[in-house]
Amino acid sequence: MLGPFLLKYHHMFVGVAAAGAFILSRNGRAADYVGASADDLIGTLGRFAQQSDYRYFWFVDARSAEDAAKIEQAWLHRYRPTDNPSRSSVPHGTGWRCTTEGCAACALAGAAR
Ligand SMILES: [Zn+2]
Repeated sequence: MLGPFLLKYHHMFVGVAAAGAFILSRNGRAADYVGASADDLIGTLGRFAQQSDYRYFWFVDARSAEDAAKIEQAWLHRYRPTDNPSRSSVPHGTGWRCTTEGCAACALAGAAR
């Protein structure tokens, strides 16, 4: 993962028309929002830069749209961003499964049931 970078300068760090996943943050420390793009990471970040009040971001390139979605799911699970809707429900069929041994997020989810 690369970052944090200033969101308004995203075009200096992100390649053109690539799949990838990203984390947005207001203070550069907390993960406030997790997202992914299937084929236009720079365009997606550009929309957030114009339409949101996030100031920082992290990102990774992905080899495919499917790969980007899997990273997104893993980050949603790991960071539990406050701004994602329905963050507790990982969609079925993405093929993603938590493989972290002693994962704190899984322990919390299990305790909440
Ligand atoms: Zn887990």
